[in-house]
Amino acid sequence: MLDWRARKLSVGGPSLRTWKGGVSMRCPYCRHADSRVVDSREADDGQLIRRRRSCPACGKRFTTVEEAVLAVVKRSGVTEPFSRTKIMGGVRKACQGRPVDDDALALLAQKVEETVRARGAAEIPSHEVGLAILGPLRELDEVAYLRFASVYRSFESLGDFEREISALRASRDDAGKVGEPATSA
Ligand SMILES: [Zn+2]
Repeated sequence: MLDWRARKLSVGGPSLRTWKGGVSMRCPYCRHADSRVVDSREADDGQLIRRRRSCPACGKRFTTVEEAVLAVVKRSGVTEPFSRTKIMGGVRKACQGRPVDDDALALLAQKVEETVRARGAAEIPSHEVGLAILGPLRELDEVAYLRFASVYRSFESLGDFEREISALRASRDDAGKVGEPATSA
């Protein structure tokens, strides 16, 4: 069976909840311009709404998925939709030559999205997205973390690196992992 997923773009989370039945959706089988919602249920703790739809023309059923778009506000004031792919791209650069694969990057991007969505705001400043990256990246790879943090926090001197490295060491000590390698294979 064809698993047809559609992402409806809309602004804001709360309005989505009251948007019963959603908008009309073209049938993926016969291209009929409208379809009837036969069932709606929340998934991913309410982050997604899955709708089972039925086409009045050909009678076939299909599923759509609606997700509230999270807008990232850049320093320039321009907004763009939150994108895990973008997060992965940015972090991948910091991970060059490091033992970090795409699965790990995808998991990191997922964690970042969960963190920023958990705030419940429809818009989030880009620097908060950067902040949300730092934690999971530090757990993933300390060298990549230092590279990312140096750009993100605009390190200007060796002193900035030294302070960050001291902070890394201190947090490792707190975790009771003195002398152990940062990452395990
Ligand atoms: Zn149809």
